[in-house]
Amino acid sequence: MLLTIEALMVCYGHVQAVRHVSLAVAEGEAVALIGANGAGKSTTLKTTAGLMVPKAGQIRWRGQAIQGMEAHRVHQLGISLVPEGRGVFPQMSVLENLLMGAYGRKDGIRVRSELEELLEVLPRLKERLQQKAGTLSGGEQQMMVIARALLGQPRLLLLDEPSMGLAPVMVREVFSLIERIQSRGVSLLLVEQNARLALRYSQRAYVMEQGTIRQEGRSSDLAADPLLQEAYLGTTVAEAK
Ligand code: ATP
Repeated sequence: MLLTIEALMVCYGHVQAVRHVSLAVAEGEAVALIGANGAGKSTTLKTTAGLMVPKAGQIRWRGQAIQGMEAHRVHQLGISLVPEGRGVFPQMSVLENLLMGAYGRKDGIRVRSELEELLEVLPRLKERLQQKAGTLSGGEQQMMVIARALLGQPRLLLLDEPSMGLAPVMVREVFSLIERIQSRGVSLLLVEQNARLALRYSQRAYVMEQGTIRQEGRSSDLAADPLLQEAYLGTTVAEAK
């Protein structure tokens, strides 16, 4: 396994945001983490990325315990978080924002060629490289931060709500980028409010409720589960029949 989380517990003061989470992501796999607001999905991602120290439990990267490791070291291992709210530097240009993703890399020529390759599939960004990032649309910003994360050469991308606040046409573009990333062999742990979308673009999924994993399985099986459809997929049991 690439990533294994066992019995994770994470608190904000006295609030137990994550009570007991165990999950795994295999090499090359796309795994979704779905569930209602406040279930603890973002906290699970942030803790995996080294932004929070868990109260209990283990996070293993290729078998090595990494819980509590500093975020920059976790990043060096190949785990990259694309946070909710995006973390755009609005006054900097699109190009500068993108190059931040390659910070610390010493193979400048390689970075340039990877950037050019990425921009070929992201023409909207290519046209806007010199523009201030704060002037991009929400969807363009989302593409930019995903592209930025890719320039860090991650093995595992942690994506927090990539569809948040985007128009349907941009959601499709963002997810086609996500699909392309997976086809390149990068593993994904995807948190999404839009459970239907998350299940469509993943092979396995976990359903989180109140800080714990309530259900797990193949995404196609979960998408067909009548109770899950009623709870998260916006269809009633009667409609699903
Ligand atoms: P959402 O989709 O709304 O982001 P989520 O499943 O990602 O939900 P988290 O953001 O991980 O959930 O939040 C889990 C719990 O932790 C919630 O009860 C939330 O109120 C609480 N929480 C999150 N961030 C903080 C914080 N900085 N301080 C205190 N409590 C927090």
